[in-house]
Amino acid sequence: MQVLAVASEVFPLVKTGGLADVTGALPLALARHGISVRTLLPGYPSVMSHLKKHKSAARLDDFFGLSARLLSGKVAGLDLFVLDCPALFDREGGPYSDISGADHSDNWLRFAALSKAGALIASGLVARFRPDIVHVHDWQAAMTPVYLRFSDDLSPPSLITIHNIAFQGQFAPIHFAGLGLPERAFALDGIEYYGDIGFLKGGLATATAITTVSPTYAQEICGSEFGMGLEGLINTRSDDLYGITNGIDTVQWDPVNDPALAANYRSTTLKRRRTNRQALIERFGLDASLPGPLLSVISRLTWQKGMDLIAETADAIVAEGVSLIILGAGDPEIEVRLAQAAARNPGRIGFFKGYNEELSHLMQGGADAILVPSRFEPCGLTQLYGLRYGCVPVVARTGGLADTVIDANEAALSAGVATGFQFSAVNRASLLHATRRVCEAFRSPTSWARMQRQGMKADVSWERSAARYAHLYAKLIEKNGS
Ligand code: ADP
Repeated sequence: MQVLAVASEVFPLVKTGGLADVTGALPLALARHGISVRTLLPGYPSVMSHLKKHKSAARLDDFFGLSARLLSGKVAGLDLFVLDCPALFDREGGPYSDISGADHSDNWLRFAALSKAGALIASGLVARFRPDIVHVHDWQAAMTPVYLRFSDDLSPPSLITIHNIAFQGQFAPIHFAGLGLPERAFALDGIEYYGDIGFLKGGLATATAITTVSPTYAQEICGSEFGMGLEGLINTRSDDLYGITNGIDTVQWDPVNDPALAANYRSTTLKRRRTNRQALIERFGLDASLPGPLLSVISRLTWQKGMDLIAETADAIVAEGVSLIILGAGDPEIEVRLAQAAARNPGRIGFFKGYNEELSHLMQGGADAILVPSRFEPCGLTQLYGLRYGCVPVVARTGGLADTVIDANEAALSAGVATGFQFSAVNRASLLHATRRVCEAFRSPTSWARMQRQGMKADVSWERSAARYAHLYAKLIEKNGS
């Protein structure tokens, strides 16, 4: 089976969040099921610099009035198509925003172009490449099924995966003329969305099926609290909606071999984690004599992730007897408040502002617990890395966090299956209550180690999830043919 994936991020070429981890790891896991995936992504500068050897796959003359090429190549074991269109992608800043943090004003065009290239490939643009199914990720690629639906070409079935419904790609209707779609596409069963253009909305309306990245999130987005305005449409598509929990790349994330750790370890040599803990204490300038647990946070600093609450509660959290280390970047106000909290609590709170892949590994390998207080969380990856690294997850009971962490309640403890802590409301009281539970559990080194080992036993690999995607692809291909 041949799959065309379309995504705006793929690890290790370009990453701003979990989407990249998924699009980087899933193809490798699917290969073990005999499925080959080729991923189309934009030719951002970081992508072009990774793509040392490449071939020209097709020329796209007058592509939205621009000149573009489609390249093919292989990076880190991934088969890629790259849309090389310098006018759209060769620029400073992140994939979606300029250096000041403002969205690129032509994002509608940039990701319409990516999606259109996906639709062209799906319909046979590249000689000897005919995908059996197209799998697109998030709003940036969501227009691929729209272009397929409104074209006369024969096309394969399509699957859209929602990694985060909060990001929808909504644009002013004035841009419709620039999308190259027929008038009838600006309608309820197309891309019209409350009078605007909705890229994600269009993808959800037109793809053959929809997945999201955990079963609980699949249920949650059917309701108004989490559906973010799309719940009505999603409900009409509930027969085609699936929740498949993300896995993680267990080679990249392996405490036995991780080069970012000061000491490697496995579940039988957990004591070696102390060396990593010590390295963290030094790096964050913490007081080494404190006996309580070392809690870590690795996150985009946003409201979704509950990081405003961490900033607000940090003093009270450490007053419970824990030390807190935070790695993250995002909302400037939260960044300032976290820096102030760290300054107020020297030796107890360490804050590293920025994005640092290597430090994130060391934190998973050395901290005692990882705190994930998200208000909503489609799947979440940091708790999965935590499980794999014996860094006990302390999570809000929502979305994928609810699906992947087994709370240390009485029943789970007596059955010996607990892997972490869950708390319900994302507010100060429940966060502090969870902190107290962590402190109490940490006082018993044997039961703490049992929980770490139980987490390390959890299957967080892509194996089961890749099998589910493989099964779904086969089902959609069969349905399309019948
Ligand atoms: P989201 O995609 O919503 O940001 P996920 O938990 O799904 O959240 O994925 C976040 C990914 O980004 C994880 O791989 C996490 O380790 C990584 N990450 C987030 N912030 C940072 C940071 N400041 N430095 C390094 N890695 C980070």
